[in-house]
Amino acid sequence: MAKPLTDQDKRKQISVRGLAGVENVADLKTNFNRHLHFTLVKDRNVATKRDYYFALANTVRDHLVGRWIRTQQHYYEKDPKRVYYLSLEFYMGRTLQNTMVNLALENACDEATYQLGLDMEELQDIEEDAGLGNGGLGRLAACFLDSMASLGLAAYGYGIRYEFGIFNQKISNGWQVEEADDWLRYGNPWEKARPEYMRPVHFYGRVEHTAEGVKWVDTQVVLALPYDTPVPGYRNNIVNTMRLWSAKAPCEFNLKDFNVGGYIQAVLDRNLAENISRVLYPNDNFFEGKELRLKQEYFVVAATLQDIIRRFKASKFGSTEFVRLDLSTLPDKVAIQLNDTHPALAIPELMRILVDIEKLSWEKAWDIVVRTCAYTNHTVLPEALERWPVDLFHNLLPRHLEIIYEINRRHLERITKLYPGDVDRMRRMSLIEEGDVKKINMAHLCIVGSHAVNGVARIHSDIIKSTVFKDFYDVDPQKFQNKTNGITPRRWLVMCNPGLAEVIAEVCLLLIIQTESCELEQLCIRKEPNKPWIPRTIMIGGKAAPGYHTAKMIIKLITSIGDIVNNDPVVGDRLKVIFLENYRVTLAEKVIPAADLSEQISTAGTEASGTGNMKFMLNGALTIGTMDGANVEMAEEAGEENLFIFGMRVNDVEEMDKKGYDAVSYYNRIPELKKAVDQVSGGSFSPGQPGLFKDLVNMLMHHDRLELIYADAVEANPKEWTKMVIHNIAGCGKFSSDRTISQYAREIWGMEPTLEKIAAPDDPR
Ligand SMILES: *Cc1c(COP(=O)(O)O)cnc(C)c1O
Repeated sequence: MAKPLTDQDKRKQISVRGLAGVENVADLKTNFNRHLHFTLVKDRNVATKRDYYFALANTVRDHLVGRWIRTQQHYYEKDPKRVYYLSLEFYMGRTLQNTMVNLALENACDEATYQLGLDMEELQDIEEDAGLGNGGLGRLAACFLDSMASLGLAAYGYGIRYEFGIFNQKISNGWQVEEADDWLRYGNPWEKARPEYMRPVHFYGRVEHTAEGVKWVDTQVVLALPYDTPVPGYRNNIVNTMRLWSAKAPCEFNLKDFNVGGYIQAVLDRNLAENISRVLYPNDNFFEGKELRLKQEYFVVAATLQDIIRRFKASKFGSTEFVRLDLSTLPDKVAIQLNDTHPALAIPELMRILVDIEKLSWEKAWDIVVRTCAYTNHTVLPEALERWPVDLFHNLLPRHLEIIYEINRRHLERITKLYPGDVDRMRRMSLIEEGDVKKINMAHLCIVGSHAVNGVARIHSDIIKSTVFKDFYDVDPQKFQNKTNGITPRRWLVMCNPGLAEVIAEVCLLLIIQTESCELEQLCIRKEPNKPWIPRTIMIGGKAAPGYHTAKMIIKLITSIGDIVNNDPVVGDRLKVIFLENYRVTLAEKVIPAADLSEQISTAGTEASGTGNMKFMLNGALTIGTMDGANVEMAEEAGEENLFIFGMRVNDVEEMDKKGYDAVSYYNRIPELKKAVDQVSGGSFSPGQPGLFKDLVNMLMHHDRLELIYADAVEANPKEWTKMVIHNIAGCGKFSSDRTISQYAREIWGMEPTLEKIAAPDDPR
């Protein structure tokens, strides 16, 4: 693909791809060859494509190092407030091209590799995705890191360095098969291990209440080993840090037995401790109450808080005599953002540090905790809300359980004073849910322990105030905010769609896409095969959680429909149904710029925000969508006439729920719908297995909480395509994560974003 660029090409690409100056290119070639020789220990006779990728990655990485060190020095000198973004997921995707874009090195690297006889795109394709996330929540964390660096905020992402990220999906016979994501097999050139900053994390044990205070004793220790990844801002010479913890057994792990057999077994058992960071739980919007997952959640929190306190105390500001006494200025210097309830243990853990270790009074400690922490809610779906059994806590984190009980006691005392005798309200608002198994409601813990609670789109933030968290809104309305999600325009425009980025940058060319569209489906084509149907390819991608049977059946249904439709001679090339295998960040970057239409058809009130919708909008696809999540604000920004809005609003859904949703009545009323459903349940798409999709259709007709049949019954009729595309692109500015992060910074963290650059170091030779 690498062709010599004409002068005109180069001029056009300068603004988005960086300058390919002769000196720049010569330096890059020199450093590439140096890395091939000294780092990869290869010559060009034996080097593989992967060696070339690593040589290029290391060459680009060299340009980060000086900026990274300088940024951290800059923060030490200026001692600004720091924000810590705590997340169990960082869905980063690839790093090489993003680094080149943000450092304006892309053109120069392209030219250098071309002169070396290599194809840069081919090398880029060798990089593994860092798939440390399931979907929207993890990708949001990644977009936020990019924006926080680009806005000059002293920010840190803290999470877990999973040895295995989200599984690789293979489609075999139309069914999903999972494969382990061994992304670190060939090494990761973007991370730097920091064993010197290893921290102990305690589990199990028991609590002693002594005259000198509370002691958590007889614990099992696992070490947290940090790996740092640089996070460059967009052309501002800032490089922030994402620090991911890896679990390491201590040297003395299980070495109580001194006989030889005991020693061998003890070494083998080190795996047990190190399993904590082995694998990402592949659940999106679903809570699975496994002990190992709770260990992961405490592991990241405990290691991170030690780091935060250490950095605070070591800072110029924090090391004054006054602050050493009581850490009361922590909220002036530190903001902790909790990405959903997954890192909720930060609240009781910070209390434990302040009360048990720093010996602050409960009241003083609580004030510090609440002013430091803030919580982002990502869903109202009840199956996704974390509710951990008390028994699990009692065993694994006995001191934290005590602290949570004390938080709850004081919280309910306040509620009783506000609503004397309102027992039902007390029950609803308690952090502890009574029942067969007592459970801790982690969202309630987060709301009580934070000064700010936000939803991720306006409609979602309104819904949490009026439904799931209404009781909490009634007593603390000032806590509740909205921060509509966003996406980074670096990865989701400049990087994946440089042509469009250039057009937008120049703001002078019109998109000339002469398209009209009409609702197409197989049934219609077969009925009127001679009509001039516009050829259409429908692409569907996504991963089913390995234990989620219905989701797997839906994938099988899609691939089965594809098998029939794609081989139907009457339909021909006018309709294709493709299931995209192994949908992930890198595939999204390829497929989203190619799309004309984006379907965002969640039942109103169920999608908190969505960010895929924003990526499509930015890349010139039009949206067919319900008034749900961020679609509502997209319609507001682009003009409602420039999206294909259809279906029930939240109010309509509520009305229907009152009356009782009955899928069968829609099925009976709409002949096309009936025919489609009958074909699925009747075996038209599963030759040889007529009953394959019976259960799935039964679910749809009788047990579908999302009320999907209704959505399928509606049609859209798009016109004036080009004009609509332009209105969409022109209106999508709001959905930059730079806007989102500016609002978090000013309205939650008490920080001020800046577009200023810091001084660049001399580039390495
Ligand atoms: C953006 C993104 C998501 C989230 O998409 P939604 O449409 O908001 O659910 C999930 N996976 C990948 C790979 C993404 O890039």
